Amino acid sequence: MSVAQGKALGKDCFPCNTLLPGWADDFLEMIRDFWNGELKWNCSMADLSTFRVGGAASVVVFPLSLNELSLLVQGLGRMNLPWRVIGRGSNILVSDSGIEGVVVVLGRDFCSIERIDIHRREQVLVRVMAGCSLAKVISWCAEQGLSGLEFAAGIPGSVGGATAMNAGAFGREISDVLYSVVIMDRVGTFRSKSHEQMQPAYRSWNERPDMTAVETIFKLKKGDPEAIEARCRDIIAQRRNKQPCHAMSCGSFFKNPDGIPAGKLIEEAGLKGFQVGGARVSEKHANFIINTGTATAADIVSLMKHIRERVLKKSGIVLEPEVELLGFVSI
Ligand SMILES: Cc1cc2nc3c(=O)[nH]c(=O)nc-3n(C[C@H](O)[C@H](O)[C@H](O)COP(=O)(O)OP(=O)(O)OC[C@H]3O[C@@H](n4cnc5c(N)ncnc54)[C@H](O)[C@@H]3O)c2cc1C
Repeated sequence: MSVAQGKALGKDCFPCNTLLPGWADDFLEMIRDFWNGELKWNCSMADLSTFRVGGAASVVVFPLSLNELSLLVQGLGRMNLPWRVIGRGSNILVSDSGIEGVVVVLGRDFCSIERIDIHRREQVLVRVMAGCSLAKVISWCAEQGLSGLEFAAGIPGSVGGATAMNAGAFGREISDVLYSVVIMDRVGTFRSKSHEQMQPAYRSWNERPDMTAVETIFKLKKGDPEAIEARCRDIIAQRRNKQPCHAMSCGSFFKNPDGIPAGKLIEEAGLKGFQVGGARVSEKHANFIINTGTATAADIVSLMKHIRERVLKKSGIVLEPEVELLGFVSI
C-alpha cells in the first residue's frame, strides 16, 4: 500500500481487507525504519476475538513497553496507516474479510498492578496497566482487601478494553471507580486525564474516539478480603445463572436503550433461539448472540439486522450495538 493509499483510508478507519499486491513488501520496508519488535502478518482475528469469527488483519503488532508503543504509532502516523489497539477481543466483531490495517495488542510491560497510595484513610489508589486482564486485577484486589471492582467479576477482557468501553454490570460501571487514566494520542504522546476530564457516557467516554488507554488508576476502598471474594463469587454465580458464559459470544450484543433491557425487547419480539446460519440468539439471555461453532461474521451481522428490524416493528425502539464492528465497509 502506498502512503497515498494509506492517507485515503484515513487514520482509524478499518475498511475490509482487500490486500493490494506489494502491500506487505512496502510495509516491511517502511516499518524496518522504526520497528524491530514482534509482528504477525495476515493474522487471524478469529483467534483474537471471543466470537471466534472474522478474517485476518494485515498485521498485528505487539509492543512490549510504553516506549515501543509510542515509537510504533509515531511511525505508523508518518506512514498514515490505519491502526487500532484491541484488548482481549471480548467486545469486537471482525468482518469475514478481515481488517486492512495494523492491529496493536499490548504486550509484556502492560500487565502490572501496583498500589500507589497508602496514605489515605479509606481510599486506596491502584495503578493497572492496560494489558492486564480484568479478572487478574479483581482477584488481586480481593487478596489485598480492596473493594470497588466486584461488580466487574466475570467480565472478560483487559483493563484497557474495560476502561475504553466504560464496562459495567449490576448498576455500576468502570467510571464509578476510575480516578484517572493515562492515554496516548494518535502521535504517541501520553497524558493523564482525570475522571472529570474524561466525562463518562454509557459504555463510552466523551474523550474516547482518539484515545488509547495505557494505564488506569482505580480508586478503591479498604475492605475485608473474604467478604470481597464472596461478593465476587456471588456476582459470577448470578452471571452463570442468567448468561451463556461459556458460549462463544461478546456478551450483550446491544446497548440497553434508555435503561430498558435490550434482552427483554428481543425476547418480547419472539426471537429467543432464533438462528441465522451458525449464529443464534441465546435461549438463556436474549441479548447474547452466540456462535454455535460454525458462525461467520456475516451470519452474526444478518442476525443483528433481523433482531433490529423485529424489535423496531414490535416496540418502535431502535437497538444500537454495544459490540464494536471492525472491518465492515458498510452494514
Ligand atoms: C461472556 C461475556 C460477558 C460480558 N459481560 C459484560 C458486562 O457485564 N459488561 C460489559 O460492559 N461488558 C461485558 N462484556 C463485553 C466485554 O467483555 C467488555 O466490553 C470488555 O471490557 C472489553 O474488553 P477487551 O479487552 O476484550 O476489549 P476489546 O474487545 O479488545 O475491544 C473493545 C473496544 O475497546 C477498544 N480498546 C481495547 N483496548 C483499548 C485500549 N487499551 N485503549 C483504547 N481502546 C481500547 C477496542 O479498539 C475496541 O473498540 C462481556 C463479554 C463476554 C464475552
